[in-house]
Amino acid sequence: MSDQRNPAQTGEHDVINPATEALVRRIEQPDLERTDEAIDRAEAAGPAWRAVAPADRGRLLRRFSEVVDAHLEELAQLEVSNSGHTIGNARWEAGNVRDVLNYYSAAPERLFGRQIPVAGGLDVTFKEPLGTVGIIVPWNFPMPIAGWGFAPALAAGNTVVLKPAELTPLTAIRLGELAVEAGIPESVFTVIAGKGSVVGERFVTHPAVRKICFTGSTAVGQRIMRGAADQVKRITLELGGKSANVIFDDADIEAAAAAAPMSFLDNAGQDCCARSRILVQRNVFDRFMELFEQAVKSVVVGDPTQDVTQMGPLISPGQREAVRSYVENSTEPVDVAFLGAAPAGAGFWYPATVVLARGTSERVWREEVFGPVVAVLPFEDEADAIAKANDSDYGLSGSIWTRDVGRALRVSRGIQAGNLSVNSHSSVRYSTPFGGFKQSGIGRELGPDALDAFTDVKNVFISTS
Ligand code: NAP
Ligand code: MG
Repeated sequence: MSDQRNPAQTGEHDVINPATEALVRRIEQPDLERTDEAIDRAEAAGPAWRAVAPADRGRLLRRFSEVVDAHLEELAQLEVSNSGHTIGNARWEAGNVRDVLNYYSAAPERLFGRQIPVAGGLDVTFKEPLGTVGIIVPWNFPMPIAGWGFAPALAAGNTVVLKPAELTPLTAIRLGELAVEAGIPESVFTVIAGKGSVVGERFVTHPAVRKICFTGSTAVGQRIMRGAADQVKRITLELGGKSANVIFDDADIEAAAAAAPMSFLDNAGQDCCARSRILVQRNVFDRFMELFEQAVKSVVVGDPTQDVTQMGPLISPGQREAVRSYVENSTEPVDVAFLGAAPAGAGFWYPATVVLARGTSERVWREEVFGPVVAVLPFEDEADAIAKANDSDYGLSGSIWTRDVGRALRVSRGIQAGNLSVNSHSSVRYSTPFGGFKQSGIGRELGPDALDAFTDVKNVFISTS
């Protein structure tokens, strides 16, 4: 293995509240040397963790789940101040970590291999842990995305090093402390809150890290995939999306219009599953738009600490500029149909923005905006709807609104995406698989099969002769 390290870098990072622009906390960031020390300790902790009896490993994960539950409100408040998430969302997110830990706490005792009939002996398979797993988390859902990685990874007998996003490290740091409080042995789960260019890169180049679970931008995902090739490192990639919300004329148009706003405004649109393209059958287009406008304008935008708030600010000034580049500062003409509300003053606010697309070639139709911006386009018939939905490099999620069960199934099979919902916008349940087609990613998280992504199959033949 090469020793082409970057020069050691240390630094401090100011964590800013996106709703107020106030300083929340200053954190010290580890340099390369401290990153290596943490990875080495995780690696050294591996054999003892693998040797913990399955029932005991399950019990420890259940205890971790209980400790998270006991600190749910604290974690949720921390996320509100660090990430500007609405308090309702943040409570759900902390609860999701609890539930995912609880779900995978059953896995150590159910990590079944197979017995395969062969001549001359007994053949069995084992699902062996990979070793140390590196999890790289983005800023949009700091808690859930961390949990979808570390819970199944730990359950399968791996040790974990986790790098939160530079902008949103606080809940991950706290989860690392809660793991120790729950009795997870030292260095089995380590949070390393440093820069992507230092800590994230080192996960790719350090030979002890045997798998990387990455969620974030397509550009960084591609870079990780290239780097992982050097050591044939396993990867799971959850990248962007540009998901379609397809509304047929036989749908309950009132229900479709009422549900559409939060399908692209949840987390201020900073959601890889955001339904940021709406396709509406032409003969109901005007009716839908009328109802949709009322629904968008009634979304409660503002102080994320309040229970009634549905949409908060964007994560950073940089993200707000990125969103603006698709609307006011776009290089292409953009036809804005209407806007929602946004507070003035401190905070990285951006209003809900509904754009009428002219076709499928515009930037705002094709690229992931990652903000509260949606583009709407009419379609003619079922074939046209499927073709337009599939005219994308991405394939993460999508929704289909129709009362015709046959059509719901035909269109579900026709759309190239990993997670579809009919007459709803749900994408993620911890008990079902989640991941993307095409450039939205590789591999699946959550659900009963996630353990396969954190294990290698070993085949053993025992001769009976
Ligand atoms: P990003 O750069 O891909 O960041 C995601 C994670 O990767 C962060 O923890 C980041 O660390 C880390 N990282 C950055 N450079 C790395 C490298 N060279 N090697 C290893 N890890 C590295 O995403 P972003 O810049 O925050 O957001 C940009 C765009 O990505 C968004 O506008 C959105 O379109 C998309 N995005 C998608 C998702 C999703 O859920 N699919 C999530 C977030 C963003 P640092 O924070 O320290 O840089
Ligand atoms: Mg980046």
